[in-house]
Amino acid sequence: MPSKRRNNGRNKKNRGISGHVNCDNCARIVAKDKAIKKFTVRDIIDAASKEDIGKASAYKVPTQVPKIMMKMWYCVSCAIHARIVAVRSVVDRRKRDTGKKKMMRKPMEQKKPEEKKEEVKA
Ligand SMILES: [Zn+2]
Repeated sequence: MPSKRRNNGRNKKNRGISGHVNCDNCARIVAKDKAIKKFTVRDIIDAASKEDIGKASAYKVPTQVPKIMMKMWYCVSCAIHARIVAVRSVVDRRKRDTGKKKMMRKPMEQKKPEEKKEEVKA
């Protein structure tokens, strides 16, 4: 029977069971090797409150606020819905690099022209 992906969307090689995790969005039980992992680093305080805290602080020099570091596990449905990974065409599906990197590159490319414009002005 033909399969959509040669690894069937999993990273389980010669293993019976790889363990299970719950999706952080919908709590669906997903195989650990199939789940989409995303390591997120976020500020504890949002940008708006950060300014207020900075003004109210006794320190004149801005202090570093600790960050939240979370390893997020998503099921395939949630990962696609949240645009963490993207559906790829039959040809692109065979490529070893995942859609994750493509999604990561796009914002970087968009930022670069803006930076160049600022340099030209100065
Ligand atoms: Zn989910």
